[in-house]
Amino acid sequence: MTPQEEYADTLLVSYAMRHTASEGRLFAEEPDPYRTCFQRDRDRIIHSKAFRRLGYKTQVFANSEGDNYRTRLTHSLEVAQLSRSVACTLRLNQDYTECLALAHDLGHTPFGHAGQDTLHALMKAHGGFEHNCQSLRIVAELETRYLDFNGLNLTLATLAGMMKHTRIYTCDTSLEEICQKRSQESPNLEAALVDICDQVAYLHHDLEDGLDSNLLKVEELTEITLWRDTQQTVAATHNETLQAARPQVRFRFLLKQMLSHCIQDLITETRRQLDQQNPQTLQDITALKPQDHPLRFSAPLQKNLKQLRTFLFERLYRHPSVNQMARRGARIIQLLFTEYSQHPEILPRHVQARIPQHGLHRVVSDYISGMTDRFAAQAYSYLMLL
Ligand code: MG
Repeated sequence: MTPQEEYADTLLVSYAMRHTASEGRLFAEEPDPYRTCFQRDRDRIIHSKAFRRLGYKTQVFANSEGDNYRTRLTHSLEVAQLSRSVACTLRLNQDYTECLALAHDLGHTPFGHAGQDTLHALMKAHGGFEHNCQSLRIVAELETRYLDFNGLNLTLATLAGMMKHTRIYTCDTSLEEICQKRSQESPNLEAALVDICDQVAYLHHDLEDGLDSNLLKVEELTEITLWRDTQQTVAATHNETLQAARPQVRFRFLLKQMLSHCIQDLITETRRQLDQQNPQTLQDITALKPQDHPLRFSAPLQKNLKQLRTFLFERLYRHPSVNQMARRGARIIQLLFTEYSQHPEILPRHVQARIPQHGLHRVVSDYISGMTDRFAAQAYSYLMLL
C-alpha cells in the first residue's frame, strides 16, 4: 500500500471498498507514486477510446437529433456525479465508485437498446451480445494502448465491481475466476450505489429529454405521483416564482427537485438499514442476501419509481418517433453485420487479424458494437451506395 492509499482508507467506513481489498491487477505493475490504485483505474477509463466514443452514442435520442440531449458520455458523467456525492456522504470509496460509474456503459452499441437487441439476435448462435459483458471485454482486452498487455489492466476489484452479480460471464477466460466468485456474492455498496444511481439518472434525464423534444407534454406528467408530490412541495414555498418562470425553467427546476428528493431518500433509507444491520466489514455486505442489501430507496419511493418507469416505457420509449429511430439503428446494424460476416476482407486489417483467435462473428460483433452512431451510419451509407 502506498501512503496515499493508507491515508484514503482512514477516511472510509469499515465496510467500504478499501484499497487493501483491490486484489491487485492481472499483470503486476509497480504502484503509482502519486495516485491510489482506484484513481489510476479511473484515469485509465477516462483516457480510453471506448470512453471518448460514448459522446457519439445514443442514450434515447440519437446524437444527430439535437445538441442538448444526453449521450452515453454525459449520462455516464451524471451517474458518476450522483454516485460520488452519495459515496462521499456515506463515507464509501469515492474513487472506486467513480471508476464503476464511468465504466458502466462502455460496452453499449450504437443506437441505444435497439442496437444491443439487434446485435444480440444476430449473435444468438455465437454466444450472444450483452452490453455489460462487452464493457468487460473492452477493459480486459479490446483497448490497446499498453505494450505489455491488452486491455487497461484494471484492479480485480474494479473488474468485479463492473460485473452484475446475477450474470454468468463467458466472454473472456481471463475473467472467469473473478466472475465465479462474484456470482456467489452480493454487490459491495459502491457497485450497488452505481447501479441505483444509473437508474435514477436515466429516469429523470429521459423525462427531461422527452419534454425538451416535445414527445412528452408536461400535462401528461400529472399522472406520475412523484411529479405531483414534487409540484406540491415546491408550490408550498415557491408558488409565485414557480408560476412566473418560463415553462422550460419550471419543469427543469421540478425535475431537479425530484432528483434531489430521490437521492435524499436513498441516503436516509440506506443509513437506516446500515444502522439496523450494523455491518463491520466488506464481507458482511457481500455475504448478504439480495433482499437484505442495505443500499436502497424507501418502500414508497420504490413504488413511485416503478410507476415512473412504466410511464416512460409507455409514453417515451415506445413513442413512434423513438421506434423509428430504433428501427433505423437496427437496419444499419443488420446490414453491417451481414456485410462484414460475408466479406471479412473489407474489415480493417487489425480487426481481421483477431479472427483466428476470437472467431469471425465475435470479431464482427466487437467491431460493430464499438462504433459510434455516426460511424455506423456512414459505413452503411457507403456500402448501400447512398
Ligand atoms: Mg447507464
